[in-house]
Amino acid sequence: MSNAKPWIANYPPETAPSLEYPRVPLTRFLEQSAADFPDSFAIYFLGKRITYRELLAMSYQFAHALIRRGVRKGDRVAIMLPNTPQTVISYYGALFAGATVVMTNPLYTERELIHQLNDSGAETIITLDMLYSRVSSVQASTPLKRLIVTSIGDFLPFFKKLLYPFVQKRERHNPQVPYGSEVEPFLSLLKESAPNPVKTEIDAENDIALLQYTGGTTGVAKGVMLTHANLIANAVQCQAVLHKVRRGRERIMGALPLFHVYGMTTVMNKGISIAAEIILVPKYDVKQIFDMIDKVRPTLFPGAPTMYIALINHADLQKHDLSCIEVCVSGSAPLPAEVQHKFEELTGGKLVEGYGLTEASPVTHSNPIWGKRVAGSIGLPWPDTDCRIVDSSTGEALPPGEVGELAVKGPQVMKGYWNRPEETAAVLQDGWLLTGDVGYMDEDGYFYIVDRKKDMIIAGGYNIYPREVEEVLFEHPAVQEAAVIGVPDPYRGETVKAFVVFKQGKQASEDELEKHCRNRLAAYKIPRQYEFRSELPKTMVGKVLRRQLQEEDKQQRVAD
Ligand code: AMP
Repeated sequence: MSNAKPWIANYPPETAPSLEYPRVPLTRFLEQSAADFPDSFAIYFLGKRITYRELLAMSYQFAHALIRRGVRKGDRVAIMLPNTPQTVISYYGALFAGATVVMTNPLYTERELIHQLNDSGAETIITLDMLYSRVSSVQASTPLKRLIVTSIGDFLPFFKKLLYPFVQKRERHNPQVPYGSEVEPFLSLLKESAPNPVKTEIDAENDIALLQYTGGTTGVAKGVMLTHANLIANAVQCQAVLHKVRRGRERIMGALPLFHVYGMTTVMNKGISIAAEIILVPKYDVKQIFDMIDKVRPTLFPGAPTMYIALINHADLQKHDLSCIEVCVSGSAPLPAEVQHKFEELTGGKLVEGYGLTEASPVTHSNPIWGKRVAGSIGLPWPDTDCRIVDSSTGEALPPGEVGELAVKGPQVMKGYWNRPEETAAVLQDGWLLTGDVGYMDEDGYFYIVDRKKDMIIAGGYNIYPREVEEVLFEHPAVQEAAVIGVPDPYRGETVKAFVVFKQGKQASEDELEKHCRNRLAAYKIPRQYEFRSELPKTMVGKVLRRQLQEEDKQQRVAD
């Protein structure tokens, strides 16, 4: 059975059931917003504001400079930056030049960097002076030829004068950047030419705008090929779902990293498409977020559950007025219902859970913002996104209520993995993407993620999904966060271990937690081991690194 567009019956009637996707390069969003709102602010960064007219001009200049240095259509250009204006200029500049962007996590180690640069074949990288020594140390082992180096303070004259000497002092172990023909300062590229439009022919359906690496925590990272059309589609779908937003009037909190496709689409591409002012946050720090809420009054705040959890549990919360925030879409991990309620109470706005994955640009589902929302559900498929639940072993589609693997099909689904036809064929069949997530659909067409296929714990022959146990632990009043893994057990094969972080000033004993779980879970699902921690290891978008917990647990057992 194909659960084709179950959302039609459920999405609010104002949302168009089928959308128009312009066959234009992604960069058209920026040109359009700069034409419609030239003097509106596009970026807010630590007090500095940049208008749409300026952002477009600098992106054109950057594109011309890349072309002059030999960057050709289809060449890969890596960007290894935290959220700064330079990230947006580099991204749109590279796309105007016809290049394929390769977003690189600034926290990557040398090993990860070598893999990504070799796999993608990027010869140009735009990075920070603070990261220079790491990047230059891998140059001999990769195709890298050209380094364009910037500093956090490049657009902040006051910062350069006042703060930068201290930052430099702290980073003294980094050698000075040896500028020359192969290592150039970012700002000099913007001074070379007039901001004239760039004419590169782009085939939106086929040209790859982005190679986004994923799967690094579970195996070798693969480059997901996303075309201009894929990225346009997800931004247009996002606009439709947020259909009450006003073009040229919104301010969007850019706390999600732009080097992850979730932030790239929901903050940068969507933000630019609606001519919003994007508040760029280089590092998630709750005090800084409060400060920006006070000063810029964001109306939209896409994020990950951990970001909202950190905000609502902060000691300074009462000192700040969050009522400007109207809509937040939370993704990348399950959103606990309690967090949703408290956040909505504080802001008077809406916080809805969504879902996606890199291979789908990334969003495929969310709860309707102005319609029926279901706690614990990832909501309804986005417009033009078909979904079904399949039996992984037979590929058969399953009826509502039955648990299987979620498969999705839509204009945002990737072209495939870069240079990996076998891996592509394993997950992409007739346009259907197998997500690797286990879940089900209810009779109303709402979807639920039970867990990742590979995170399932098998104890004494029973399947246990960590998410269910985590949700229960989360309901305990002392628990701020919880993560559950399977650990070896001589009798049951595996057993459940829980890592728990308590709220400030609160605690509970193992016995208390066990009693709490006993009333809510079948006996075989109850954690047999606990470890209390002050925090959990997480990715930059707030996903708990279960593999790291497993690894640490293994090492501890070996040491014992
Ligand atoms: P990534 O490709 O890094 O964006 O990771 C995608 C994965 O994040 C998905 O395959 C899911 O396992 C997980 N994920 C995203 N959103 C949710 C959500 N709302 N609930 C549970 N898991 C999620």
